[in-house]
Amino acid sequence: MTERFDLIVIGGGSAGLAHAQRAAEYGARAAVVEYKPLGGTCVNVGCVPKKVMWYAAHHAHQMHHAADYGYDLSVNAHNWGVLKVRRDDYIKRLNSIYAKNLEKRDVTHITGIAKLVDANTVSVDGMEYTAERLVIASGGRPIVPDIPGAELGITSDDFFELEEQPQRVLIAGSGYIAVELAGIFNGLGSDTQLVVRKDGVLRDFDTMLSSELMDAMRQSGIALETGAVPESVHKTSDGLVMTAVDGREFGPVDCILWAVGRAPNIETLDLDKAGVMTDSRGFVTTDKFQKTNVDNIFALGDVTGRAALTPVAIAAGRRLADRLYGGMDGRFLDYELIPTVIFSHPTIGTIGMTEDEAIAKYGDDVKIYNTGFTPMFYALGVDKQRTAMKLVTTGADERVVGLHIFGEGADEMLQGFAVAIKMGATKKQFDDTVAIHPTNAEEVVTMR
Ligand SMILES: Cc1cc2nc3c(=O)[nH]c(=O)nc-3n(C[C@H](O)[C@H](O)[C@H](O)COP(=O)(O)OP(=O)(O)OC[C@H]3O[C@@H](n4cnc5c(N)ncnc54)[C@H](O)[C@@H]3O)c2cc1C
Repeated sequence: MTERFDLIVIGGGSAGLAHAQRAAEYGARAAVVEYKPLGGTCVNVGCVPKKVMWYAAHHAHQMHHAADYGYDLSVNAHNWGVLKVRRDDYIKRLNSIYAKNLEKRDVTHITGIAKLVDANTVSVDGMEYTAERLVIASGGRPIVPDIPGAELGITSDDFFELEEQPQRVLIAGSGYIAVELAGIFNGLGSDTQLVVRKDGVLRDFDTMLSSELMDAMRQSGIALETGAVPESVHKTSDGLVMTAVDGREFGPVDCILWAVGRAPNIETLDLDKAGVMTDSRGFVTTDKFQKTNVDNIFALGDVTGRAALTPVAIAAGRRLADRLYGGMDGRFLDYELIPTVIFSHPTIGTIGMTEDEAIAKYGDDVKIYNTGFTPMFYALGVDKQRTAMKLVTTGADERVVGLHIFGEGADEMLQGFAVAIKMGATKKQFDDTVAIHPTNAEEVVTMR
């Protein structure tokens, strides 16, 4: 017999779990189909284990500066294996918390790969389930370039499987995952090379962030190579070598990691059986209410190709449940002014328009405020790391439409400012806010 639900969610990641749980809290009979450990990319091969690794690398940075403060430290070694075991244990604990959260709300967890049969029916391992509404929250996966020898490299998913630390690493890519993993490897002592196709990293972000980070990476010992389009990879007796289209060779290294973008997980879904449309890159197209072209099928999170971030996936999932099951008509996620952090070394916090975007939209009606300084933390030592900030404002009242922070503490600094910016804060209101001293954050409200 076919089991019936109000709602079947495909994918037990950030978006799917948030949506199913919120819907169940409103009384919907919900099921989540997931074939991997619950929690999806963020918990298993994304934000969470990545942040653990970032903390490990950050420790190295702090220990490097400990002598400035009078400590006489000798660090004997770092044990990657021990860190991995502890990290994996933590993730397993999270997986079981996620399972309990579903149980608590009576959400059925169906284990397996879901395929659409029609607009109301999903099949999993030969069993069929029907529901009034279906939600596609199947996320994405790392892209491996289609070049000879690419299979010799690994992806960000495989990074979390590494039992030992590779001593020589080449990362191909320029986005946030590439720079974050390069910072982690470098911080933990691997000889790290970052090879990018164009002229720099983080090309979708404000140019200040990109150039500051490139300088900091080089200063910290990362070999940054620009304008290198990967053509092939081959193995030599001394390791892996990547050849670029212009003939340059990079390597030999012990590990090549592809961080060249992510693709939506749609292959297993048989979307055509229900007539669900995708864009040219395969992302499921949705309107502002997360609805696909099929009235009772919705899509959330990375599979939609919009702002691929965990809190975005969660917020979209919860708002959809609020609207469909919680009586909050008209509720949807506004994708404007989403704050985000890049866990590079140092971190980056960014929200809103870049300077170039603001000028393209508002022309001369844009005023930019910049500052750059050496944080007090480095005052006692020789090795110093810069902080830089940019405020993008527009209009006679100088409404803040962008804030870009490069430097230590940016990750924790941005959230509060994001509230103010989302509320429409102006430069004068920033100025009228009394600074907190001595902090790096005080510079955000004292820029001239
Ligand atoms: C290395 C890395 C670091 C990241 N760091 C951050 C960060 O610091 N901060 C941040 O906000 N975001 C970060 N992200 C992005 C974040 O992880 C994603 O935006 C988020 O996980 C998206 O959630 P989702 O629910 O859309 O997809 P996912 O979490 O990917 O979940 C989708 C789930 O669907 C399952 N699935 C797929 N097809 C089927 C099927 N046919 N049947 C059943 N199940 C299926 C998959 O197994 C998966 O578990 C990071 C991503 C990566 C890769």
